[in-house]
Amino acid sequence: MEKKFQSLSVPRRVLLGPGPSNVPPEVLQAMALPVIGHLDPAFLAIMEEVQAMLRTVFATTNRFTIPISATGSAGMEAALVNAIERGDKALVCVNGVFGVRMCDIVERAGGELKKIEAEWGTPFQPDQVRDALKNFPAAIVAIVHAETSTGVLQPLEEISRIVHDHGALFVVDAVTSLGGTPVNVDDRKIDVCYSGTQKCLSCPPGLSPITFSDSAIEKLKSRTSKVQSWYLDMTMIEKYWGPERVYHHTAPISMIYALREALRLALDEGLESRFDRHRRLSAQLIDGLEKMGLEMLVDRKYRTPMLNAVKIPCGVDEAVLRKRLLERYGIEIGAGLGPLKGKIWRIGLMGHSCAEENISLILSALKSLL
Ligand SMILES: *Cc1c(COP(=O)(O)O)cnc(C)c1O
Repeated sequence: MEKKFQSLSVPRRVLLGPGPSNVPPEVLQAMALPVIGHLDPAFLAIMEEVQAMLRTVFATTNRFTIPISATGSAGMEAALVNAIERGDKALVCVNGVFGVRMCDIVERAGGELKKIEAEWGTPFQPDQVRDALKNFPAAIVAIVHAETSTGVLQPLEEISRIVHDHGALFVVDAVTSLGGTPVNVDDRKIDVCYSGTQKCLSCPPGLSPITFSDSAIEKLKSRTSKVQSWYLDMTMIEKYWGPERVYHHTAPISMIYALREALRLALDEGLESRFDRHRRLSAQLIDGLEKMGLEMLVDRKYRTPMLNAVKIPCGVDEAVLRKRLLERYGIEIGAGLGPLKGKIWRIGLMGHSCAEENISLILSALKSLL
C-alpha cells in the first residue's frame, strides 16, 4: 500500500542549547512571504538593506559585508580559503571545538598551519600570540571570539594590536557573539569576521554574515592563485553583491527575508539594550545555578553571556537529565564536547531565547530534576 504522510508538525521547544535559538514569529512570517526573483529590483533593494543592517551589527563601514548562503561553518571556510593561498603561514588559536575546525580548514586549503593551544574553558593571553609570532611570520591569525564549546569570551584588543604589529590579517569567528555581545569589527581592527544566523540573531540556520576589511580585500585581489572553493570564492561573490550583479548562485530568497527581519528586530531593540539583556539574564541564570550548588566552568572574568557552561555535579547521569528536560519541559540544552564531554552542560541564552521567563523555567526544571 502506498504510504500516506501527514502534513508536517514539529514539537514546541525552548531552545537553550548552543544554537539554534528560538526564532521570533516576525522572522518566521517573513519566510512565508512569496518568493521573488533574485535579480528582481525589489529583492536587490532587500539585499542592500541587509548589507547596511549587517554593517551596523558588525560595527563596521566595510563595503564588503554580506551573508554567505550557508551556515556559520561556511563563513569560517570562506574567511580562511579567501585569506590563505597555498603555502601561506596561518596561526590558529585553539581552545575549543571551533579552533580545531579552523585548523582542519587551513590544512585543506594548503596553508602552513601553526596551532597554539589554551586549556578548554580558558582564554588566550596576548603573550602567547606574541611569542608564537616571533618565529612564525604568519600571514593570518585566526581566533574564536565566543567559543561555544566552552563558554569563553576571548578578549581581542591586545591580540589585535600584536597581530597588526606583525603585519598579519586578523580573522575572528563571531558566530556566537554577533548580536549578543559587542563585536566591534572596526574598533578592534578585525580583517575578516564571520558569524551565523541561528545564534544571537535568532534567525533559522542557513546564512553566514561575513565582512572583509580593505586589507583583506587587497590580499584577496593580489592572489596569484584561484580561491580553492568555487562556491565560496569572494572575488566572484563580490560581483554578485556589488553593483554589477553578476549571477553567481541564486540567493536563498526566503532566508534573506528572514535575516532582514531578524536584523530589523535586533536594531529596533537597540544593540546596547540587546547586549545588556544578554549580560543581565546570564548573571541571573548563573546566580540561580550557584544557589543550587552548581559551579561554572569558566572564570567570571571570561564568561560569555550567551553560552553558560555549568559543571555537572557528581553522580548525575547528564544524558538522562537532558532527555528529561526535553521530554517533560520541552527544553533543549547542550552537552559537553571533546574533552568536556560528560563534564559540562551548555545552557545557551541566545537572542530570542534569552528571555526572563526562560531563566525561571530552566532553573525550576533543573531544581526538580536534580
Ligand atoms: C555554531 C558555531 C560555528 C558553526 O556554525 P554552523 O552554523 O553550525 O555551521 C562556528 N563557530 C562557532 C563559534 C559556533 O558557535
